[in-house]
Amino acid sequence: MRENALAEAVVDLDAIAHNTELIARAAPTAAVMAVVKADAFGHGMVPVARAALAHGASWLGVATSAEALQLRAAGIGAPLLSWVHSPHEDFRAAILADVDLSVSSPEVLDAISSCAAELGVRATIQLKIDTGLSRSGAAESDWPALVRRARQLERDSLVRVRGVWSHLISADDPGGAHTADQIERFDLAVAAARAAGLDPELCHLANSAAALDAPRTHYDLVRPGIGLYGVEPVAGKVFGLRTALTLRARTILVKDVPAGTGVSYGHDHTTVQDGRLALVPLGYADGVPRSASGRGEVLIGGRRHPIAGRIAMDQFVVDLGQHAAHVGAEVVVIGGDGPAVTEWARWAGTLPHEIYTGIGSRVTRRYTGHRTAHLLFGETCVA
Ligand SMILES: *Cc1c(COP(=O)(O)O)cnc(C)c1O
Repeated sequence: MRENALAEAVVDLDAIAHNTELIARAAPTAAVMAVVKADAFGHGMVPVARAALAHGASWLGVATSAEALQLRAAGIGAPLLSWVHSPHEDFRAAILADVDLSVSSPEVLDAISSCAAELGVRATIQLKIDTGLSRSGAAESDWPALVRRARQLERDSLVRVRGVWSHLISADDPGGAHTADQIERFDLAVAAARAAGLDPELCHLANSAAALDAPRTHYDLVRPGIGLYGVEPVAGKVFGLRTALTLRARTILVKDVPAGTGVSYGHDHTTVQDGRLALVPLGYADGVPRSASGRGEVLIGGRRHPIAGRIAMDQFVVDLGQHAAHVGAEVVVIGGDGPAVTEWARWAGTLPHEIYTGIGSRVTRRYTGHRTAHLLFGETCVA
């Protein structure tokens, strides 16, 4: 870690490359769409997208049009799907940037086709069916009208339906009963789309867990997110993914305190012996979850130490007991030899996804990797 940095998240792009290749091998008949929404789960959208595309992914997936346009602005021309849209959005920039737009409702379909008409071009869309998650996706009862309307707009040269897709209920248990039922509903929806005259070339359903562990969900393309970042997605199974991110900081203050010293807001923690406290310049605004106060640990000098008392917005305190640490000592907070992201998720009562996406914008991202070094232009790279 750099001497003058308060904290940094180091992302090993070779791990992203390894994970992309591993998932691609597990789904050999499908294309891989690397899901890089939410700044690539906090890892940095553009570098991760480049690494995934160079190592087995041929598509990128994001939530919003703004994210899609950020990838295009970085010069990434790969096929790209975005899927969280409001009917009140201005779709013109995304259409001109060749972004596939997901459609779950006639309102969004009409908004997109109006923008396409205004531009005098054809928008490429992918129709989403709700096969049971009850989140986005058209309800089964609305599907026949949606595919008829889409077919009409294809005839009018305003849209082209490239794909039909859906999302699984059991994100970490793809072998369960839900998945079998969803596959059945999905096949019916695809058949109805074809019967209406559509000719989708891409059908897709699988997230990371399903890509690794449920071949029947693979269809033409799989959409891994969390697996790319190295978190094993199927409960109780290990596929050999490698985590990519390490969050580190340096102590900025070390002081001796007597036994019985209360620490941080509300004095939830009291030292049990004469000893030492170390101050770490990371807080919940940087993604160290406040809800892990009283449980979280970090690695300093090769040893685990407890976080003492409440995690504050910008800093937390570590109870070193009688151990020593100098000011400027490295603190491994997440990943590397320190606590795994899954431990943080347990301490905070959440998922690794939320821990990663919570890492704040004050934390500098730095990229490493031998195999991927040539992909980094603007980003710093230490091979
Ligand atoms: C986030 C997301 C994914 C990735 O899911 P993981 O379980 O992280 O692999 C795939 N598809 C959609 C629609 C998503 O929103």
